[in-house]
Amino acid sequence: MSEGLEWLERIRGLDLPPRVRIMNVCGGHERSITMAGLRGALPEAIELIPGPGCPVCVCPEEDIHQAIQLALHEGVTLLAFGDMLRVPVNVKKGEVRSLVEAQAAGADVRPIASPTEAVAIAREHPDRPVVFFAAGFETTTAPVAAMLAEGVPDNLSVLLSGRKTWPAVAMLLESETPGFDALVAPGHVSTVMGPEEWSFVVERHRMPAAVAGFTPESLLAAIYSVLRQHLSGERFLDNCYSGVVRPGGNPTAQRQLNQVLQVTDANWRGVGVIPASGFALRPAYAAHDARLLFPSHEDASRKRAGEMPPGCDCARVVLGRIYPDQCRLYGKACTPRNPIGPCMVSDEGACRIWWAGGVRQ
Ligand code: SF4
Repeated sequence: MSEGLEWLERIRGLDLPPRVRIMNVCGGHERSITMAGLRGALPEAIELIPGPGCPVCVCPEEDIHQAIQLALHEGVTLLAFGDMLRVPVNVKKGEVRSLVEAQAAGADVRPIASPTEAVAIAREHPDRPVVFFAAGFETTTAPVAAMLAEGVPDNLSVLLSGRKTWPAVAMLLESETPGFDALVAPGHVSTVMGPEEWSFVVERHRMPAAVAGFTPESLLAAIYSVLRQHLSGERFLDNCYSGVVRPGGNPTAQRQLNQVLQVTDANWRGVGVIPASGFALRPAYAAHDARLLFPSHEDASRKRAGEMPPGCDCARVVLGRIYPDQCRLYGKACTPRNPIGPCMVSDEGACRIWWAGGVRQ
């Protein structure tokens, strides 16, 4: 019997209550769960809820709008991770609504896969300002910090939209209705920040939690662990990705994060401001901070905070309040070909993953 089937059998052998809701906070987890068909394979009592696991989905409208304006009006080369290019903002008909539309309108917008590419492009064009629009969670933000710590060309700046994952989960847990009974914590984030970041879930909230990797086997091991904790009343943060996630995480990445960035309150798209959930460049790196280099766009874009496309339910999907197919636009007005919200654009967005996995209303 395969390892995955063994875990499934163990889970099926548990004496479960009528309903147990388990949230994951990682787009990679949601992809594995959906593509492996785990929801259909597990006992009906188990609900697997996708939570705030997609950095593109939580990137606020104003940051994307600002990136579009810089690309259109400041003569910069605008670099962004590929997922971000098609995320639409809420503008009047006829106006440019995404970075890919800005590119079509003649702006120099380029998808990149890593900060190394950003440095290379800036070096190739020393006479042109290059702005790297960097949206991501800790795993993506740490290499951006490393890039800045190591030194970048004078013409390269960063429009940073970095977010910390655990404060969003803490916000849910501190709400009156968290909406879940157990947590599968993200493997990649724990690799960087250490699994200890998730200890508050068990210590403060007495909720079962386990760190998982990205294979169905690792996810099933974590699901089994939190179910056992749920049934036994015992609580501990289980590391089911111990081959990769080490106690303390990656000290070098953490040092660079702390050296270059400071933690700030941050707006999450459709959710609002979550205290101490974002990153900003420290004053020592002001020369590379696009928010300071282009202050008029920063001010104008900030006034857009809270904008969402009409009918878009991405915020409730991100918070696990509804499943993707419960959005009334899912598969109708909103499809991967014609996305309304970011959750249908990003490879880590729950709507796109569910659509790719064949979930139809
Ligand atoms: Fe947002 Fe589209 Fe998903 Fe609705 S279906 S939540 S509009 S991405």
